[in-house]
Amino acid sequence: MSGRSHHELRRRAFRDQLDAAESESLELLFGVGELTGADIVTPNQTPAWMRKDLEDAVRGFVDGEWQTCTHNPTPESPQPLFAVAWRRGVIVCRRCEYTLAAKRIENKTCDGCGTYCRGASMTVVSVVKRCITYTAGLCDDCADPKPDGQ
Ligand SMILES: [Zn+2]
Ligand SMILES: [Zn+2]
Repeated sequence: MSGRSHHELRRRAFRDQLDAAESESLELLFGVGELTGADIVTPNQTPAWMRKDLEDAVRGFVDGEWQTCTHNPTPESPQPLFAVAWRRGVIVCRRCEYTLAAKRIENKTCDGCGTYCRGASMTVVSVVKRCITYTAGLCDDCADPKPDGQ
């Protein structure tokens, strides 16, 4: 019985850690939004493909199928992690986020429809699930949330 409650305690500690990592991710994200003017959206407002990609990122990380940075983050020790639509299959820690962010400015191709937006400004959209922040660059059409129904 003590083994069981010990297990329960470990589970609770893990959940607390995960919650902390998630709220830290959200705080970081809103900080980034203030700096870059990026739109911060919740998963419900996000295009369906982006929600699916985020699910893939979470699953890929938990299953160990996604490539991680050299700091080797693992699901057992939750921390804020970052993935982007223009480099699928890669997940990095906070210290390595810049390796993904460098392309954010250069990238002019919409991650939603593939349109090359010469000169036009892209909208950078980020969503958070668990401790993973997933970011995509969208053209005006893809960034504009569709009204209900259509
Ligand atoms: Zn790292
Ligand atoms: Zn688009």
